[in-house]
Amino acid sequence: MNLKRHLIQLMRTIKNGLGNSNGYGNCYGCYDNWQWKEYHVIQYSESSGMFPYCEECHKTLSIDRKKELADELLTKWMSGNYWGKDWVGLRIIVHNAIEAGK
Ligand SMILES: [Zn+2]
Repeated sequence: MNLKRHLIQLMRTIKNGLGNSNGYGNCYGCYDNWQWKEYHVIQYSESSGMFPYCEECHKTLSIDRKKELADELLTKWMSGNYWGKDWVGLRIIVHNAIEAGK
């Protein structure tokens, strides 16, 4: 067993547990907590952005996987108090932003 790798994973688990208990959300890609992990903002318009995944995941995940994670967050938004939005249109805008490297 690689001890260093094991300890790093243990520290991650502890930090994520602390972040969760403090009410912070998580990256949908690696589940790391926003209290300590830098999120990546998909700036899909001049005034609007979303962050379904972290900077690290932004650099490593495929475009298709990023779209899936963005869809997860959009689905969560749809179930909240965000009525009256053009969800199909927003999904296309977000996917286009991801394809453009945003
Ligand atoms: Zn991540």
